[in-house]
Amino acid sequence: MIVYSEIASIKKRIKSFNKGLTIGFVPTMGALHKGHLSLIKQAVLENDVVVVSIFVNPTQFDKKEDLVNYPNTLENDLSLLKSINCDIVFTPNQNEIYDENIKSENFDFDGLEFQMEGKFRKGHFNGVGTIVKRLFEIVTPTNAYFGEKDFQQVQIINKLVEKHKLPVNIIGCEIYREPDGLAMSSRNVRLTKKQRLAAPFIHKTLLAAKELFGTKNAAIVIDWVENEFKNHPLLKLEYFEIADEKTLKPIKKVISGQKYRAFIAIFADEIRLIDNISL
Ligand code: AMP
Repeated sequence: MIVYSEIASIKKRIKSFNKGLTIGFVPTMGALHKGHLSLIKQAVLENDVVVVSIFVNPTQFDKKEDLVNYPNTLENDLSLLKSINCDIVFTPNQNEIYDENIKSENFDFDGLEFQMEGKFRKGHFNGVGTIVKRLFEIVTPTNAYFGEKDFQQVQIINKLVEKHKLPVNIIGCEIYREPDGLAMSSRNVRLTKKQRLAAPFIHKTLLAAKELFGTKNAAIVIDWVENEFKNHPLLKLEYFEIADEKTLKPIKKVISGQKYRAFIAIFADEIRLIDNISL
């Protein structure tokens, strides 16, 4: 496994590959856990060469304290990557990616950017679009892997690729969970013991909402979920939405043939967790 931190060096290496070689790419912000590893293992199975980037992208954080508190476990990340046969790791610093100008491009994602995470995290998807487009230019992947834990992000990246005609296949990968159902996230390590014990309630509520959705209309399901969190001592609901998987617009009435998904964001003190489930 080779680690590059400079754009010029990784580009040179990638340019040296034979034309027919497939490159699998998994962009991450580090603090790797089994959720990340599941994406990377899939990439290892499906490609000749696998590149993982580790870059905590400042422009996608709407809150400075979240950026400052983002865990950094680089040494451990590198040994995990080595153990699962990753070929290349790209660990640029901010200057390498942005020069002096730490700013996002402005994207039009046909409205996907105004739903859910876009409403609550201003500028987040412009930051995501900027970094992913930049990394795609550098790594030139055949296949790029993104987790459905950030389902809205997967749809945004699909739109980015479609609109900018980028030559890459986007592969959405299933959410990887702890045995108690909590979706794995780099933020989970920041939870207190009590919060960690409470957190599986998020997935449990999604499962119950899924069941309810089979028998009741969306408004009733939404009310039910909001009520479940109203008096929760540790978990504060930011949003719960049922949306069309493609447009991400809130459901009005069920149309047969359309796919729907429930999305949730909660706070445990200042730690924000998201999850979703296909309905
Ligand atoms: P991050 O480092 O949080 O930016 O995540 C890097 C990639 O890993 C993104 O595509 C995430 O959606 C994905 N990811 C993070 N957590 C999980 C999980 N629990 N299951 C599947 N994919 C995940």
